[in-house]
Amino acid sequence: MRLQAAATALLLIYGTGNAFTSLSTKSPTKASFQTKLSATTLRPPTRYPETPERVAEVRDRFTEATIDAANAKGCSNENGKEDEWWRTDLNESYREVTPDSPLRVIVAGGGVAGLVTAAACHAKGMKVAIFEQASQYAPYGGPIQIQSNALRALERINPKIYEEIVKAGTTTADRVSGLKIGYKKGVFLNLGQQYERGDWLVKFDTCVPALEKGLTPTVVVDRPVIQQILLNHGIPESTVRIKSRIASYEELGEGKGIKVQLTDGTIAYADVLVGADGIWSSVRRIMHGLDAGADGFAASGAAGGALNEAEARRMAKDSVLMAGNANRRYSRFTCYAALCEHRASNIEEVSYQILLGKDKYFVSTDGGGERQQWFALIREDSGGVDPEPTEENPTPKLTRLLNEFNNVAPGDKNGDVWDDFAHELLLATPEENIKRRDLYDGSPLVSQGWSKGQVAICGDAAHPMMPNLGQGGCQATEDGFRLAEELSSVKHTKNISGALNTYFLKRIGRTTIIQILAQLGSDLLVDFDLMM
Ligand SMILES: Cc1cc2nc3c(=O)[nH]c(=O)nc-3n(C[C@H](O)[C@H](O)[C@H](O)COP(=O)(O)OP(=O)(O)OC[C@H]3O[C@@H](n4cnc5c(N)ncnc54)[C@H](O)[C@@H]3O)c2cc1C
Repeated sequence: MRLQAAATALLLIYGTGNAFTSLSTKSPTKASFQTKLSATTLRPPTRYPETPERVAEVRDRFTEATIDAANAKGCSNENGKEDEWWRTDLNESYREVTPDSPLRVIVAGGGVAGLVTAAACHAKGMKVAIFEQASQYAPYGGPIQIQSNALRALERINPKIYEEIVKAGTTTADRVSGLKIGYKKGVFLNLGQQYERGDWLVKFDTCVPALEKGLTPTVVVDRPVIQQILLNHGIPESTVRIKSRIASYEELGEGKGIKVQLTDGTIAYADVLVGADGIWSSVRRIMHGLDAGADGFAASGAAGGALNEAEARRMAKDSVLMAGNANRRYSRFTCYAALCEHRASNIEEVSYQILLGKDKYFVSTDGGGERQQWFALIREDSGGVDPEPTEENPTPKLTRLLNEFNNVAPGDKNGDVWDDFAHELLLATPEENIKRRDLYDGSPLVSQGWSKGQVAICGDAAHPMMPNLGQGGCQATEDGFRLAEELSSVKHTKNISGALNTYFLKRIGRTTIIQILAQLGSDLLVDFDLMM
């Protein structure tokens, strides 16, 4: 039956624990790693209801990390010191790489990909510097799932980072996750059952498959907290230089390094340049010879996004133009996202659910500390913005969403009356917490590649993907791990380009599959209605 086939496909796609843990065990050092984890830390998680103390702790930590991010704590800026290592010209010579003369790596972009890559390279003894264009971090969309595969990579990069992330995280594998029917649905070809709104269609297990592979079950962590942990435990203070946009770079010859130019005219030198600069990557634009309009400030991943509503509106329009130049794909979904302080009515039973509907769906996750993260994906043209608040309608985003997911007759514009849960979360969310972004992704860069000479790309710059699988940041984390592993084997700067090519070859198959599944996931979800 089509319905059953669709459910099976979705189970395959959304059974993230299963899919990604099995994909993530192909490493040569798997056995020793698993033995260590199994012996020390891994037990099925037990659900302990939130206490007032934990609620306060989670919320306070989030507030503190958000303030740190806004103040760019631990970062330097354009007024930084004059003796940074990257100011020294390498004199266009190649050399042996030794502990006294380690590789010098510049990372463009201080999002998840950039911070993890820098932490991984630093852990291997390399010198690192991150140039981040933004003046502060402006996280979009609340916490993210750090899944078992990314936790494994983090532990191998730096056990302290792993410990801190798990400690700060909220476990979701201790309760049900899955897909629900958003509203009452008729009978398919007069066969099968009648679905009521809120009926489970598929439940998936993110716990047992992880534990069976010796991996830690997924945790949900606030984005600023992740950044804070990586900054505090992954890299030396002032490694990130904010207000530093990379404008161009030039290869100085094989093994002879890279010359990087910032938009303020600053020149920097390194052996390797890593473009972790998001979906509108400048490094990718130069590497792949794309048009001038293919990079820039635009709504992209988690960091460096819009700081306010006016900027968000401008970015929505700019992204449409940029996507054309950069060969990125508009996913056909705009995404409203927020974190709300609310003890969900299903908190003890459900940790993650998607309410499915026609041309839209509503995703929610327990964010810990009696907070729910939700995002609503609605299929529509790109570049749309919400009306400005007025006296009659001071909350235009909320008003729209309450209509889109209307839980009382006559329902939404299709006449569908939605499950109450979307309304429960929407009504607990202040308008100003709701951020909107069109979602873009791209085709896998199989033929173009992710590296050229002494330059490579990673994270969303290399494989932007839809958020359905919760794998964008996790794959960026794996990239950082793999990149540092390959670079750490370089004994002579002439071997850098070979190491970067190996990094690409090892990563492209896995990320291509995940990118395609993430894209297919969205399309299947909203076309699901047709199958019922
Ligand atoms: C709603 C939503 C939910 C998601 N949920 C999850 C989840 O649960 N789990 C998960 O793993 N992933 C999730 N993702 C995906 C994840 O957010 C992204 O894949 C991840 O943030 C990408 O990180 P990045 O560092 O590659 O890119 P970005 O976060 O975009 O960072 C790139 C950085 O580079 C900077 N930059 C750009 N150009 C330059 C330049 N020329 N010079 C210097 N700096 C520059 C930018 O300012 C920015 O700070 C989600 C995404 C969305 C939209």
